[in-house]
Amino acid sequence: MTKKCEARRGAGASILPLIDSALTTAADTHSVIDWQHIDSVLLDMDGTLLDLHYDNQFWQELVPRRYAMSRGLDVNTAKAVLNPLFRRSEGTLDWYCIDYWSRELRLDIPLLKREVAHLICIHPHVLDFLRALRDTGKHILLVTNAHNKSLALKLEYTRLGDYLDVIVSSHDIGYPKEDPLFWRRLAELHPYSPARSLLIDDNLAVLRSARAYGIQHLLAVHQPDSRRPPRDTHEFAAVEDFRAITPAI
Ligand SMILES: [Mg+2]
Repeated sequence: MTKKCEARRGAGASILPLIDSALTTAADTHSVIDWQHIDSVLLDMDGTLLDLHYDNQFWQELVPRRYAMSRGLDVNTAKAVLNPLFRRSEGTLDWYCIDYWSRELRLDIPLLKREVAHLICIHPHVLDFLRALRDTGKHILLVTNAHNKSLALKLEYTRLGDYLDVIVSSHDIGYPKEDPLFWRRLAELHPYSPARSLLIDDNLAVLRSARAYGIQHLLAVHQPDSRRPPRDTHEFAAVEDFRAITPAI
């Protein structure tokens, strides 16, 4: 199935190239969303609203290539050096901090991110979903582990900010979303009722931390990267197609 990439570069700019998407349409998520019981919608960015293809290509292909070039290594050796470094910091703020990686790898990570920014792409039907949330009066919060520089680049290319009430990076909160303290601190800054909130996030560790804090409605993402196979989302129901969970106006 071919779906249109909904990302845009700046106001009035041209639509980015079409991409193939294997997102399926047979979502069975109607039953898990009762919109009458939801006031706030907390949305992850990378892999949830946006195709994780960009981030995977960046960290798993471009960064190893540039690291290899800068060190005079072949790409496979560079990957063998980088993978343990990446694994060590997974789930921490460092892992999501591009200033940290610029220092660690001695590469200009923000500049490299911009180099492949044409790959930034909104998942199909996300914008209609966001419009419907707005039109039904939901409070829409983007909650992301992305560093502010990555976040700014994604917002510049997608204009997602036009659809959101609140945008929060865990770097401003001081805890990654994998830590239940993130959700408490978020509630202090931007009050929401955990019992009347829905979180959609492709990261299962994040969903578990939100559940531990008390967020009642939780959805994973069936296929965060349109170029990779769907994943097992274990104990969580998952969004396969945003049309299936878009509230009726
Ligand atoms: Mg994500």
